[in-house]
Amino acid sequence: MDRQKVDEEYRFDVVVAGGGLAGVCAAIAAARHGCHTALVQDRPVLGGNSSSEIRVPPGGAATPNPWARETGIVEELQIENIARNHDPVWEGMMNSTWDLILYEWVRREPNLRLFLNTSVRDVEMATNETITALLCAQLGSGLTLRLAASFFIDCTGDGTVGWAAGAEFRMGREARHEFGESLAPEEADSKTQGSSLLFRARDIGRPVSFTPPPWAEKYPTEESLLCRGQYRLNQREYAGYWWIEVGAPFDTIRENEAIRDELLRHLLGVWDHIKNTGDHGAENMVLDWIGMVPGKRESRRLMGDHILTENDLRSHPLFPDRVAYGGWFIDVHTMGGILARNEPPEALCGNPDLSDQLCIEPYSIPLRCLYSRNIQNLFMAGRNFSCTHIGLGSPRLMLTCALMGQGAGTAAAMCVQKGITPRSLCAQHIGELQQTLLRDDCFIPDMANEDPDDLARLAAVTATSAAPLRLEPLEEAIPLRDERSQIFPVTANHLNAVLLHLRSSCDEPRELRLEFLPVSSLWEYNEEPSSPPLVTTAVVPARYEGWVNFALGTDTVQGLYRINLPACPDIAWSTARPEPGVAEFYRRTTWKRWHAGKKAFAMRLDPPSFPFSPENVINGVARPLRWTNIWISDPDAGLPQTLSLEFPREQTFNCLFLTFDTNLHLETRDFPPLSKVPQTVRDYAVRAQVDGRWQTLIEVSGNYHRRRIHRFPAVTARRLEIEVRATNGDASARIYEVRVYHETHSEADKS
Ligand SMILES: Cc1cc2nc3c(=O)[nH]c(=O)nc-3n(C[C@H](O)[C@H](O)[C@H](O)COP(=O)(O)OP(=O)(O)OC[C@H]3O[C@@H](n4cnc5c(N)ncnc54)[C@H](O)[C@@H]3O)c2cc1C
Repeated sequence: MDRQKVDEEYRFDVVVAGGGLAGVCAAIAAARHGCHTALVQDRPVLGGNSSSEIRVPPGGAATPNPWARETGIVEELQIENIARNHDPVWEGMMNSTWDLILYEWVRREPNLRLFLNTSVRDVEMATNETITALLCAQLGSGLTLRLAASFFIDCTGDGTVGWAAGAEFRMGREARHEFGESLAPEEADSKTQGSSLLFRARDIGRPVSFTPPPWAEKYPTEESLLCRGQYRLNQREYAGYWWIEVGAPFDTIRENEAIRDELLRHLLGVWDHIKNTGDHGAENMVLDWIGMVPGKRESRRLMGDHILTENDLRSHPLFPDRVAYGGWFIDVHTMGGILARNEPPEALCGNPDLSDQLCIEPYSIPLRCLYSRNIQNLFMAGRNFSCTHIGLGSPRLMLTCALMGQGAGTAAAMCVQKGITPRSLCAQHIGELQQTLLRDDCFIPDMANEDPDDLARLAAVTATSAAPLRLEPLEEAIPLRDERSQIFPVTANHLNAVLLHLRSSCDEPRELRLEFLPVSSLWEYNEEPSSPPLVTTAVVPARYEGWVNFALGTDTVQGLYRINLPACPDIAWSTARPEPGVAEFYRRTTWKRWHAGKKAFAMRLDPPSFPFSPENVINGVARPLRWTNIWISDPDAGLPQTLSLEFPREQTFNCLFLTFDTNLHLETRDFPPLSKVPQTVRDYAVRAQVDGRWQTLIEVSGNYHRRRIHRFPAVTARRLEIEVRATNGDASARIYEVRVYHETHSEADKS
């Protein structure tokens, strides 16, 4: 672009290019940390692939892993969406309410300026290692903008900023030998995963015919759509499909327009198949919306000081500079997508046993993957971060991209404040960055709050009650067709027995074997046990439904334990409501790995566990992992319930961070539209004892968010109380974390 033709110039601390979930979270994070920030998005709405223009539902680590939903900024967005959106989070269903929530969240940040319809076309360099400005073209106004900044974050997905600046990048597949990746091809090539168009169709209550244009692809039989079965969303709608995907031999950047035309041809061919071939129950269905912006999965990847590979995903090392995490399976589609007509859209389809080889436990993502190795002031986040083609298979999920965005945005803000490069930040201040991210409700595997400014860590915490672990039977029972397992928290120092609620359809009594063993974490469910499990048996009576006692008689320490049951299809295990610290797993006979489910199973412990004690709120971790890490009041005690912090001596403070329970076990697609998570505290008050008298600092009603930050005029007190008056449906008060600060620059409550 021509520098002479610049119409408007702006100067920022940080400029974020690309308004997908990575870019939105990066920009909000940088702005919240005091940087004058710009977010530049080339389309009229935010959200990238999740926007109403493309409609991919955000997903992440929680699909295959227990208690793994992403927190931080993206949790705020998702919880707001559940509360306000009438549509479910599903392919083809993302809508303008979601767009608007993203827009609102960006617009309400005073330090953040949003440039929509503004495309980054070029960069201006001070040296061949330093960017000074982005040159952008704005649609509609026809203006050329120059956006100067100290740091830039490339979240364009295509690595456009990095490419223009001469950042090292890769596009295509690495050869297997280069990084020792088992899933990589023998030879390197330029192929990437493809792009897709989604659609939405609805029932208009009377039959409607559909005549495809002559150029639509033909899918005359079910077999012609190999393993590409239709998924009908509900009685009224069809929406989808990710597998209307076109990739190699097309170039997902240069041939984006040709890909769109090709995708449209196939999309209409698939719809023709649904309407006019066989019985798909689509007589009353009309195409209501068709995406015209190809959603991209893969293009350029900018290279950082570390390149995340398949081996990093599988062995999940705890990188010392970890700032984010992922957990989706290694999801690499068939090259060519729907053009590869004789192949399933991905090897997994039609071969569920393959999921055993592709599923992984959560892994960490290092900061070194989020800054350029050769451009000094360039960060990148989202699918254009530093990884191999196979390494992108899991972390391209949008909620993982969002975490990278928050990590990069926060890191950029620290670089601005300290006047240092990303590499220096990583080498010298990584602990400070990690603690800042934890303070902002991000989760970093195996990293706890060590913030010396958090006064709550000094306090003795008590509560009016604490719940026992209760896993009472629900109506549903699952036959033991596969091996089944459950992890649960134990507080007793000796366990006499576990009792399982079982239902037998056998005419004879059945002996059932049970393994019992300690485990270190809910996420390391495939780790080899350090010692052999304790084995016990019990007899399940014929035609029985009820509790079955498995004697243990073993010493225990406070921690997580696990039981494994063998496959035994005549016996079913009653389900129970999942609670923090409890997770269930199953393993088919053909599988090597355990896979996590979303239910829990009915069990009682003798003696019972009390794992939801009040001091959990200051143990430094705000989600279940190695422990429950939450205070839950006794549901039988009713509400209100009060959590009390007593400091060893008087403290002056003006700020309180509260982290409530939004059920991180589930994905947001699991919640009904227009709902609030029942477990979340709704109405509460905070009081401090000042000069011997209780003073109410805060009263809130109608909350449904996980993280609330309250700022108030400073008080000096020794005791602080949080009274939970009501929840959004649950019988217990639930709080993951309380932090107390004395901030020197107090702001009004922004939450
Ligand atoms: C059909 C399909 C199904 C998928 N299924 C899932 C799923 O179920 N769940 C899931 O989480 N992920 C899924 N993915 C993957 C996921 O959508 C992407 O990996 C993810 O969107 C990457 O996020 P991002 O923020 O890095 O980039 P994007 O979402 O691609 O956002 C990049 C943004 O940058 C903007 N931009 C690009 N160039 C410029 C420029 N020059 N100037 C300014 N702005 C620019 C773009 O308009 C876009 O808004 C799917 C992808 C596809 C295509």
